[in-house]
Amino acid sequence: MIECREIYKNYGAIKVLKGISLTIGKGETFAIIGPNGAGKTTLFKVITGESRANSGSIRLEGEDITNVSASARVTRGFGRTFQVARILAGNTVLENLIIAIEARQRNQGVKPSWWRLGPAPDVVDEARVLARRIAMADKLGLSASFLSHGDRKRLEMGMTLALKPRVLMMDEPTAGMSPSDRHDIVNVIKRLRDEEGLTIMLTEHDMDVVSDLSDRVMVMNYGETVATGSMEEIRANTAVREIYLGEE
Ligand code: ATP
Repeated sequence: MIECREIYKNYGAIKVLKGISLTIGKGETFAIIGPNGAGKTTLFKVITGESRANSGSIRLEGEDITNVSASARVTRGFGRTFQVARILAGNTVLENLIIAIEARQRNQGVKPSWWRLGPAPDVVDEARVLARRIAMADKLGLSASFLSHGDRKRLEMGMTLALKPRVLMMDEPTAGMSPSDRHDIVNVIKRLRDEEGLTIMLTEHDMDVVSDLSDRVMVMNYGETVATGSMEEIRANTAVREIYLGEE
C-alpha cells in the first residue's frame, strides 16, 4: 500500500532522516516507535506530504506520490490525525461529522442543494453511522468544547474517516490520554483494523498500545531504522534493547 525508499531529510545541517525505507501492506497496522527526536514525526510528515524529503521516493499503491502536495495526497486517500485534535470546538459532535462529510462531497464535486436549509438527510445518516464507528453515538448533541481529550481525538478520527481514506495516519493517537480514554481509542482503532481492514500507520510512545494494535513495528533512532518486525521480534532484538530500551 505504502512504499518509502531511501528517504533523506535535513533541517539545515541536521540530518533528521538518513535513508529510511519501509513497506506497509494493505490492511496492515504499522507503528513507528523510537526515542524522542528519533525522527518519527518528521518521517510521518514526509509521508503525508506536509514536509518534503531531500531525496527518496514514496509510493501509494504503486503510484509515485513523492512530488504530490499534502492536499492532493488527501484526495488520493491519505487521512491523518494530529497530535492536537483539529475539530471545531464551537460545534456539536454531529455538526463536526457533517462538516467533514460535506467537505468530502465538495471535494468530489457534489454541489450542496441551495434550496435546502441544513444538511441533507443522507449526510446526517452517514454522520450517525460514523459516530457509531468511533463509539460516540451517545455524544452526538454535545458541544465539542465539552469533550474530554480522548473524545476529541476520536471525533477527529471520525472527521478523518469521513474523507474515506485508504490509509489512516495517526501521530501519537493516545498521547496525554487518561487510561479510560486510551482504552476507548485503542478499541476503536482495533475495530477499524479488524472489521474494516483499514491500513493504519501510527507513531506512538506507549508500548502497550503499540503491542495491542500493531502487526509490525519499526524502531527508529537518530534518523535510522534500528529494526522492523513483529512486537515479539522487536522485543527480542538486541540492538533495540540496547539503543531504545536502554538495556545492556
Ligand atoms: P518525539 O517522539 O519527541 O515527537 P520524533 O521522533 O517525532 O520525536 P522529530 O520530531 O521527527 O522526532 O524530530 C527529529 C529531529 O529533528 C529532532 O532533533 C528535532 O529537533 C529536529 N527537527 C524536527 N523538526 C524540525 C524543524 N522544523 N526544524 C529543525 N529541526 C527540526
